[in-house]
Amino acid sequence: MRIPARNFQYGGKNGAELACEKVPLSRLAQTYGTPLYVYSAGAIRERMRMFAAAFQGVRHTVCYSVKANSNLSILQLLAGLGAGFDIVSGGELERVRRSDKKALKRVVFSGVGKAAAEMDAALAAGILVFNVESAAELDLLEARARAAHKVAPVALRVNPDVFAETHPYISTGLHAHKFGVPMSEARALYRLASRSKHLLPTGISVHIGSQIQNAEPFGQALRRVRELVTDLAAENIALRYIDAGGGLGISYRIEEPFDPQALLAQYARVVRAELEGFDGELLLEPGRFVIAQAGALLAQVLYVKRNGSKTFVVTDAAMNDLIRPALYQAHHAIVPLRRRAKDQATVVDVVGPVCESGDFFARDRSMPELTAGDTVAILDAGAYGMAQSSNYNTRTRPAEVLVDGGKHKLIRRRETLRDLLGPEMLR
Ligand SMILES: *Cc1c(COP(=O)(O)O)cnc(C)c1O
Repeated sequence: MRIPARNFQYGGKNGAELACEKVPLSRLAQTYGTPLYVYSAGAIRERMRMFAAAFQGVRHTVCYSVKANSNLSILQLLAGLGAGFDIVSGGELERVRRSDKKALKRVVFSGVGKAAAEMDAALAAGILVFNVESAAELDLLEARARAAHKVAPVALRVNPDVFAETHPYISTGLHAHKFGVPMSEARALYRLASRSKHLLPTGISVHIGSQIQNAEPFGQALRRVRELVTDLAAENIALRYIDAGGGLGISYRIEEPFDPQALLAQYARVVRAELEGFDGELLLEPGRFVIAQAGALLAQVLYVKRNGSKTFVVTDAAMNDLIRPALYQAHHAIVPLRRRAKDQATVVDVVGPVCESGDFFARDRSMPELTAGDTVAILDAGAYGMAQSSNYNTRTRPAEVLVDGGKHKLIRRRETLRDLLGPEMLR
Protein backbone atom coordinates (compact mmCIF):
# COMPACT_ATOMS: atom_id res chain seq x y z
CA MET A 1 0.00 0.00 0.00
CA ARG A 2 1.43 3.40 -0.96
CA ILE A 3 0.24 6.40 1.02
CA PRO A 4 -0.23 9.16 -1.57
CA ALA A 5 1.67 12.48 -1.43
CA ARG A 6 3.51 11.79 1.81
CA ASN A 7 7.03 10.88 2.92
CA PHE A 8 5.56 8.38 5.40
CA GLN A 9 5.59 4.96 3.74
CA TYR A 10 5.68 1.30 4.67
CA GLY A 11 8.92 -0.50 3.88
CA GLY A 12 11.48 -2.74 5.50
CA LYS A 13 10.89 -6.44 5.98
CA ASN A 14 7.62 -7.55 4.34
CA GLY A 15 6.80 -3.87 3.80
CA ALA A 16 5.45 -3.84 7.34
CA GLU A 17 7.44 -0.99 8.94
CA LEU A 18 6.27 2.60 8.65
CA ALA A 19 9.17 4.96 8.01
CA CYS A 20 9.65 8.69 7.57
CA GLU A 21 12.08 9.03 4.67
CA LYS A 22 14.70 6.38 5.58
CA VAL A 23 14.08 6.27 9.30
CA PRO A 24 11.73 3.64 10.79
CA LEU A 25 9.28 5.43 13.05
CA SER A 26 9.45 2.71 15.70
CA ARG A 27 13.10 3.64 16.20
CA LEU A 28 12.13 7.28 16.77
CA ALA A 29 9.38 6.30 19.21
CA GLN A 30 11.92 4.21 21.10
CA THR A 31 14.62 6.88 21.11
CA TYR A 32 12.51 9.92 21.94
CA GLY A 33 9.36 8.46 23.52
CA THR A 34 5.75 9.28 22.69
CA PRO A 35 3.73 11.36 22.02
CA LEU A 36 6.18 12.60 19.41
CA TYR A 37 5.89 14.90 16.43
CA VAL A 38 7.99 13.77 13.47
CA TYR A 39 8.63 15.97 10.42
CA SER A 40 10.20 15.20 7.06
CA ALA A 41 12.67 17.83 5.86
CA GLY A 42 12.47 16.29 2.39
CA ALA A 43 8.72 16.82 2.26
CA ILE A 44 9.09 20.49 3.19
CA ARG A 45 11.73 21.02 0.51
CA GLU A 46 9.55 19.27 -2.03
CA ARG A 47 6.56 21.54 -1.38
CA MET A 48 8.77 24.61 -1.68
CA ARG A 49 10.11 23.28 -4.99
CA MET A 50 6.53 22.82 -6.16
CA PHE A 51 5.81 26.51 -5.50
CA ALA A 52 8.95 27.56 -7.37
CA ALA A 53 7.91 25.42 -10.35
CA ALA A 54 4.25 26.49 -10.35
CA PHE A 55 5.14 30.19 -10.25
CA GLN A 56 8.19 30.07 -12.46
CA GLY A 57 8.45 33.27 -14.48
CA VAL A 58 6.38 35.25 -11.93
CA ARG A 59 8.32 37.46 -9.50
CA HIS A 60 7.20 36.01 -6.20
CA THR A 61 8.11 35.23 -2.60
CA VAL A 62 6.59 32.41 -0.59
CA CYS A 63 5.99 33.91 2.86
CA TYR A 64 5.38 30.76 4.88
CA SER A 65 2.65 31.25 7.47
CA VAL A 66 4.47 30.82 10.77
CA LYS A 67 1.35 30.04 12.79
CA ALA A 68 0.92 26.68 11.01
CA ASN A 69 4.10 25.34 12.60
CA SER A 70 6.54 27.71 14.22
CA ASN A 71 9.36 25.43 15.36
CA LEU A 72 12.65 27.32 15.03
CA SER A 73 14.40 24.56 13.06
CA ILE A 74 11.55 24.40 10.58
CA LEU A 75 11.63 28.18 10.10
CA GLN A 76 15.41 27.96 9.69
CA LEU A 77 15.04 25.25 7.05
CA LEU A 78 12.45 27.35 5.18
CA ALA A 79 14.50 30.55 5.45
CA GLY A 80 17.43 28.63 3.95
CA LEU A 81 15.21 27.80 0.99
CA GLY A 82 14.57 31.52 0.47
CA ALA A 83 11.17 31.68 2.12
CA GLY A 84 9.79 34.82 3.67
CA PHE A 85 7.36 34.62 6.56
CA ASP A 86 3.80 35.63 7.31
CA ILE A 87 3.55 36.42 11.01
CA VAL A 88 0.63 37.33 13.27
CA SER A 89 2.36 38.40 16.49
CA GLY A 90 5.48 39.87 18.04
CA GLY A 91 6.26 36.38 19.28
CA GLU A 92 6.36 35.03 15.75
CA LEU A 93 8.58 37.96 14.75
CA GLU A 94 11.02 36.88 17.44
CA ARG A 95 10.92 33.31 16.13
CA VAL A 96 11.89 34.53 12.65
CA ARG A 97 14.70 36.64 14.13
CA ARG A 98 16.10 33.65 16.04
CA SER A 99 15.80 31.33 13.04
CA ASP A 100 17.43 33.58 10.50
CA LYS A 101 17.91 37.34 10.96
CA LYS A 102 18.29 37.86 7.24
CA ALA A 103 14.71 36.67 6.71
CA LEU A 104 13.27 39.63 8.68
CA LYS A 105 13.20 41.73 5.53
CA ARG A 106 10.91 39.11 3.97
CA VAL A 107 8.31 39.26 6.75
CA VAL A 108 4.70 40.29 6.24
CA PHE A 109 2.82 41.10 9.44
CA SER A 110 -0.86 40.06 9.40
CA GLY A 111 -3.54 40.04 12.08
CA VAL A 112 -6.53 42.09 13.24
CA GLY A 113 -5.12 43.01 16.62
CA LYS A 114 -1.55 44.25 16.40
CA ALA A 115 -0.48 45.99 19.61
CA ALA A 116 1.73 49.10 19.65
CA ALA A 117 4.70 47.17 21.07
CA GLU A 118 4.42 44.59 18.29
CA MET A 119 4.38 47.36 15.66
CA ASP A 120 7.44 48.94 17.27
CA ALA A 121 9.34 45.66 17.15
CA ALA A 122 8.41 45.07 13.52
CA LEU A 123 9.35 48.64 12.54
CA ALA A 124 12.72 48.21 14.23
CA ALA A 125 13.23 44.87 12.48
CA GLY A 126 12.62 46.43 9.06
CA ILE A 127 9.98 43.98 7.86
CA LEU A 128 8.71 43.94 4.27
CA VAL A 129 5.15 45.08 4.90
CA PHE A 130 2.37 45.49 7.47
CA ASN A 131 -0.92 43.97 6.35
CA VAL A 132 -3.28 46.47 7.96
CA GLU A 133 -6.82 45.38 8.75
CA SER A 134 -8.63 48.55 9.88
CA ALA A 135 -8.66 52.37 9.85
CA ALA A 136 -7.85 52.39 13.57
CA GLU A 137 -4.85 50.15 13.05
CA LEU A 138 -3.60 52.40 10.24
CA ASP A 139 -3.84 55.33 12.66
CA LEU A 140 -1.85 53.58 15.34
CA LEU A 141 0.77 52.37 12.86
CA GLU A 142 1.25 55.92 11.63
CA ALA A 143 1.71 57.16 15.19
CA ARG A 144 4.24 54.45 16.00
CA ALA A 145 6.17 55.04 12.76
CA ARG A 146 6.20 58.78 13.45
CA ALA A 147 7.51 58.22 16.97
CA ALA A 148 10.28 55.98 15.58
CA HIS A 149 11.09 58.41 12.73
CA LYS A 150 10.34 55.65 10.25
CA VAL A 151 8.15 55.01 7.26
CA ALA A 152 5.93 51.95 7.62
CA PRO A 153 5.37 49.95 4.43
CA VAL A 154 1.65 49.26 4.29
CA ALA A 155 -0.68 46.86 2.54
CA LEU A 156 -4.37 46.78 3.29
CA ARG A 157 -5.83 43.38 3.86
CA VAL A 158 -9.10 43.65 2.01
CA ASN A 159 -12.16 41.57 2.66
CA PRO A 160 -13.37 40.57 -0.81
CA ASP A 161 -16.70 39.15 0.42
CA VAL A 162 -15.97 35.84 -1.27
CA PHE A 163 -17.25 32.57 0.10
CA ALA A 164 -14.75 29.75 0.30
CA GLU A 165 -16.20 26.40 1.14
CA THR A 166 -14.41 25.20 4.25
CA HIS A 167 -15.04 24.81 7.97
CA PRO A 168 -16.77 27.93 9.38
CA TYR A 169 -13.97 28.51 11.91
CA ILE A 170 -11.37 28.80 9.14
CA SER A 171 -13.38 30.79 6.62
CA THR A 172 -12.36 34.46 6.67
CA GLY A 173 -13.33 36.17 3.43
CA LEU A 174 -16.92 37.26 4.11
CA HIS A 175 -18.13 40.54 5.61
CA ALA A 176 -19.54 38.45 8.45
CA HIS A 177 -15.94 37.69 9.48
CA LYS A 178 -13.72 39.96 11.53
CA PHE A 179 -10.94 40.02 8.94
CA GLY A 180 -9.86 42.75 6.55
CA VAL A 181 -11.14 46.10 5.32
CA PRO A 182 -14.26 46.14 3.11
CA MET A 183 -13.33 46.84 -0.53
CA SER A 184 -15.54 49.95 -0.43
CA GLU A 185 -13.44 51.54 2.35
CA ALA A 186 -10.04 50.46 1.11
CA ARG A 187 -9.66 53.21 -1.47
CA ALA A 188 -10.16 56.00 1.08
CA LEU A 189 -7.64 54.39 3.41
CA TYR A 190 -5.05 54.13 0.63
CA ARG A 191 -5.53 57.83 -0.09
CA LEU A 192 -5.10 58.60 3.59
CA ALA A 193 -1.97 56.49 3.79
CA SER A 194 -0.49 58.03 0.66
CA ARG A 195 -0.74 61.49 2.24
CA SER A 196 1.17 60.49 5.36
CA LYS A 197 4.94 61.01 5.62
CA HIS A 198 5.15 57.93 7.81
CA LEU A 199 3.18 55.45 5.77
CA LEU A 200 4.06 54.04 2.38
CA PRO A 201 1.24 52.19 0.59
CA THR A 202 3.16 49.39 -1.03
CA GLY A 203 0.82 46.42 -1.33
CA ILE A 204 -2.56 44.82 -1.00
CA SER A 205 -3.40 41.50 0.55
CA VAL A 206 -6.26 39.07 0.72
CA HIS A 207 -6.73 35.83 2.63
CA ILE A 208 -10.09 34.13 2.34
CA GLY A 209 -9.70 31.13 4.62
CA SER A 210 -7.94 27.84 5.11
CA GLN A 211 -8.15 24.25 3.81
CA ILE A 212 -9.67 25.42 0.50
CA GLN A 213 -9.35 22.65 -2.07
CA ASN A 214 -10.61 24.43 -5.12
CA ALA A 215 -8.84 27.31 -6.86
CA GLU A 216 -11.96 29.19 -7.99
CA PRO A 217 -12.60 31.37 -4.88
CA PHE A 218 -8.96 32.52 -4.93
CA GLY A 219 -9.55 33.76 -8.47
CA GLN A 220 -12.71 35.64 -7.48
CA ALA A 221 -10.91 37.35 -4.62
CA LEU A 222 -7.90 38.32 -6.73
CA ARG A 223 -10.13 39.68 -9.48
CA ARG A 224 -11.53 42.20 -6.99
CA VAL A 225 -8.06 42.99 -5.70
CA ARG A 226 -6.78 43.56 -9.20
CA GLU A 227 -9.57 46.01 -10.03
CA LEU A 228 -8.67 48.06 -6.99
CA VAL A 229 -4.95 47.98 -7.89
CA THR A 230 -5.79 49.32 -11.35
CA ASP A 231 -8.01 52.08 -9.94
CA LEU A 232 -5.37 53.11 -7.42
CA ALA A 233 -2.68 53.24 -10.11
CA ALA A 234 -4.86 55.77 -11.94
CA GLU A 235 -4.62 57.93 -8.79
CA ASN A 236 -0.85 57.56 -8.68
CA ILE A 237 -0.93 55.07 -5.85
CA ALA A 238 1.26 52.38 -7.35
CA LEU A 239 1.27 49.15 -5.39
CA ARG A 240 4.29 46.94 -5.74
CA TYR A 241 3.00 43.81 -4.01
CA ILE A 242 -0.10 41.71 -4.44
CA ASP A 243 -0.34 39.25 -1.57
CA ALA A 244 -2.66 36.36 -2.43
CA GLY A 245 -2.67 35.01 1.13
CA GLY A 246 -2.63 31.34 2.05
CA GLY A 247 -5.38 28.83 2.43
CA LEU A 248 -4.67 26.17 -0.18
CA GLY A 249 -5.84 22.86 1.23
CA ILE A 250 -4.67 19.27 1.19
CA SER A 251 -6.40 15.90 1.31
CA TYR A 252 -6.36 14.36 4.78
CA ARG A 253 -7.67 11.04 3.42
CA ILE A 254 -5.11 8.43 2.48
CA GLU A 255 -7.75 6.42 0.61
CA GLU A 256 -8.08 9.35 -1.82
CA PRO A 257 -5.62 9.81 -4.66
CA PHE A 258 -4.22 13.28 -3.99
CA ASP A 259 -1.80 15.10 -6.23
CA PRO A 260 -0.57 18.27 -4.51
CA GLN A 261 1.37 19.30 -7.58
CA ALA A 262 -1.77 19.22 -9.73
CA LEU A 263 -3.76 21.24 -7.19
CA LEU A 264 -0.96 23.78 -6.92
CA ALA A 265 -0.72 24.00 -10.72
CA GLN A 266 -4.45 24.69 -10.90
CA TYR A 267 -4.12 27.34 -8.19
CA ALA A 268 -1.14 28.92 -9.97
CA ARG A 269 -3.08 29.04 -13.24
CA VAL A 270 -5.89 30.96 -11.57
CA VAL A 271 -3.53 33.34 -9.76
CA ARG A 272 -1.43 33.99 -12.88
CA ALA A 273 -4.56 34.74 -14.90
CA GLU A 274 -5.64 37.44 -12.45
CA LEU A 275 -2.13 38.94 -12.34
CA GLU A 276 -1.80 39.26 -16.12
CA GLY A 277 -0.11 42.58 -16.87
CA PHE A 278 0.73 43.43 -13.24
CA ASP A 279 4.41 44.30 -13.12
CA GLY A 280 4.93 44.07 -9.37
CA GLU A 281 5.64 41.10 -7.18
CA LEU A 282 3.39 38.32 -5.95
CA LEU A 283 3.46 37.28 -2.31
CA LEU A 284 2.02 33.95 -1.18
CA GLU A 285 1.32 32.93 2.41
CA PRO A 286 0.86 29.16 2.45
CA GLY A 287 0.99 27.36 5.77
CA ARG A 288 -0.88 24.08 5.72
CA PHE A 289 0.01 23.21 2.11
CA VAL A 290 3.73 23.37 2.94
CA ILE A 291 3.85 21.66 6.31
CA ALA A 292 0.73 19.57 7.06
CA GLN A 293 1.73 16.44 5.17
CA ALA A 294 5.35 16.72 6.25
CA GLY A 295 4.39 15.83 9.84
CA ALA A 296 2.90 13.00 11.89
CA LEU A 297 2.12 12.58 15.55
CA LEU A 298 3.23 9.26 17.05
CA ALA A 299 1.16 7.94 19.93
CA GLN A 300 1.31 4.75 21.93
CA VAL A 301 -1.78 2.71 22.75
CA LEU A 302 -2.22 2.64 26.54
CA TYR A 303 -5.43 0.64 26.77
CA VAL A 304 -8.12 -0.90 24.64
CA LYS A 305 -11.43 -0.74 26.50
CA ARG A 306 -14.97 -1.75 25.66
CA ASN A 307 -18.06 0.13 26.80
CA GLY A 308 -21.03 -1.93 25.70
CA SER A 309 -20.86 -2.14 21.93
CA LYS A 310 -18.11 0.46 21.56
CA THR A 311 -14.38 -0.11 21.56
CA PHE A 312 -12.07 2.69 22.64
CA VAL A 313 -8.38 2.75 21.83
CA VAL A 314 -6.84 5.05 24.46
CA THR A 315 -3.52 6.59 23.37
CA ASP A 316 -0.93 8.60 25.27
CA ALA A 317 -1.54 11.55 22.91
CA ALA A 318 -4.61 13.72 23.43
CA MET A 319 -6.47 16.78 22.24
CA ASN A 320 -3.95 19.01 23.98
CA ASP A 321 -1.30 17.64 21.59
CA LEU A 322 -3.47 17.80 18.45
CA ILE A 323 -6.76 19.64 18.73
CA ARG A 324 -7.91 19.59 15.11
CA PRO A 325 -10.38 16.70 15.43
CA ALA A 326 -11.99 18.28 18.50
CA LEU A 327 -11.97 21.84 17.15
CA TYR A 328 -12.85 21.36 13.48
CA GLN A 329 -14.20 17.79 13.40
CA ALA A 330 -11.12 17.20 11.27
CA HIS A 331 -10.25 13.79 9.86
CA HIS A 332 -6.72 12.45 10.31
CA ALA A 333 -5.61 9.08 8.97
CA ILE A 334 -4.25 6.86 11.75
CA VAL A 335 -1.97 3.98 10.82
CA PRO A 336 0.01 1.46 12.88
CA LEU A 337 3.81 1.68 12.85
CA ARG A 338 3.93 -2.10 12.33
CA ARG A 339 1.51 -3.91 10.12
CA ARG A 340 0.81 -7.52 10.99
CA ALA A 341 0.27 -10.25 8.44
CA LYS A 342 -3.28 -11.06 9.37
CA ASP A 343 -4.59 -7.73 10.55
CA GLN A 344 -8.28 -7.89 11.45
CA ALA A 345 -10.19 -4.68 10.88
CA THR A 346 -12.25 -3.48 13.84
CA VAL A 347 -14.37 -0.38 14.33
CA VAL A 348 -13.04 1.79 17.14
CA ASP A 349 -12.85 5.28 18.60
CA VAL A 350 -9.28 6.49 19.06
CA VAL A 351 -9.21 8.78 22.09
CA GLY A 352 -6.80 10.46 24.48
CA PRO A 353 -6.68 10.62 28.28
CA VAL A 354 -8.06 14.18 28.61
CA CYS A 355 -11.28 14.65 30.58
CA GLU A 356 -13.44 15.84 27.67
CA SER A 357 -15.68 13.81 25.41
CA GLY A 358 -14.27 15.96 22.59
CA ASP A 359 -10.89 14.35 23.19
CA PHE A 360 -10.83 12.01 20.22
CA PHE A 361 -8.70 11.47 17.10
CA ALA A 362 -11.18 9.22 15.28
CA ARG A 363 -14.73 8.02 15.80
CA ASP A 364 -16.23 4.78 14.54
CA ARG A 365 -13.13 4.24 12.44
CA SER A 366 -12.37 0.89 10.83
CA MET A 367 -8.77 0.12 11.76
CA PRO A 368 -6.41 -2.84 11.96
CA GLU A 369 -6.75 -4.36 15.42
CA LEU A 370 -4.58 -2.60 18.01
CA THR A 371 -3.41 -3.73 21.40
CA ALA A 372 -1.77 -1.97 24.34
CA GLY A 373 1.86 -1.14 23.58
CA ASP A 374 1.33 -0.68 19.83
CA THR A 375 2.30 2.68 18.39
CA VAL A 376 0.31 4.56 15.74
CA ALA A 377 1.04 7.50 13.50
CA ILE A 378 -1.59 10.20 13.18
CA LEU A 379 -0.81 11.54 9.73
CA ASP A 380 -0.89 15.05 8.28
CA ALA A 381 -0.34 16.61 11.68
CA GLY A 382 2.45 18.97 10.63
CA ALA A 383 0.19 22.03 10.42
CA TYR A 384 -1.85 23.37 13.33
CA GLY A 385 -0.74 20.40 15.42
CA MET A 386 2.08 21.35 17.76
CA ALA A 387 1.29 25.00 17.00
CA GLN A 388 -2.13 24.69 18.65
CA SER A 389 -1.03 22.38 21.45
CA SER A 390 -1.62 23.28 25.08
CA ASN A 391 -0.94 22.08 28.59
CA TYR A 392 -4.59 21.30 29.32
CA ASN A 393 -4.88 18.69 32.08
CA THR A 394 -1.31 19.66 33.09
CA ARG A 395 0.09 17.55 30.29
CA THR A 396 3.58 18.32 29.07
CA ARG A 397 3.79 18.89 25.36
CA PRO A 398 5.41 16.40 22.96
CA ALA A 399 8.96 16.46 21.67
CA GLU A 400 9.57 17.22 17.98
CA VAL A 401 12.02 15.48 15.66
CA LEU A 402 13.15 16.44 12.17
CA VAL A 403 14.05 13.61 9.80
CA ASP A 404 16.32 14.27 6.84
CA GLY A 405 17.11 11.25 4.69
CA GLY A 406 18.57 8.68 7.08
CA LYS A 407 19.23 11.24 9.85
CA HIS A 408 17.03 12.45 12.66
CA LYS A 409 17.43 15.36 15.04
CA LEU A 410 15.55 16.50 18.12
CA ILE A 411 14.27 20.01 17.36
CA ARG A 412 12.24 20.50 20.54
CA ARG A 413 12.80 18.50 23.65
CA ARG A 414 9.86 17.08 25.53
CA GLU A 415 8.50 19.55 28.05
CA THR A 416 9.05 18.74 31.71
CA LEU A 417 6.83 19.46 34.67
CA ARG A 418 9.50 21.89 35.80
CA ASP A 419 9.06 23.88 32.54
CA LEU A 420 5.35 23.79 33.03
CA LEU A 421 5.11 24.79 36.68
CA GLY A 422 8.02 27.25 36.56
CA PRO A 423 6.00 30.45 36.08
CA GLU A 424 3.60 29.72 38.96
CA MET A 425 4.04 30.67 42.60
CA LEU A 426 2.42 29.72 45.86
CA ARG A 427 0.86 32.62 47.71
C1 LIG B 1 -3.52 31.38 8.72
C2 LIG B 1 -3.12 32.34 7.66
C3 LIG B 1 -2.41 31.89 6.54
C4 LIG B 1 -2.07 30.44 6.30
O1 LIG B 1 -3.21 29.69 6.06
P1 LIG B 1 -3.06 28.17 5.53
O2 LIG B 1 -4.44 27.71 5.39
O3 LIG B 1 -2.31 27.43 6.58
O4 LIG B 1 -2.33 28.22 4.24
C5 LIG B 1 -2.00 32.84 5.61
N1 LIG B 1 -2.30 34.15 5.77
C6 LIG B 1 -2.99 34.61 6.84
C7 LIG B 1 -3.27 36.05 6.94
C8 LIG B 1 -3.43 33.72 7.80
O5 LIG B 1 -4.13 34.18 8.84
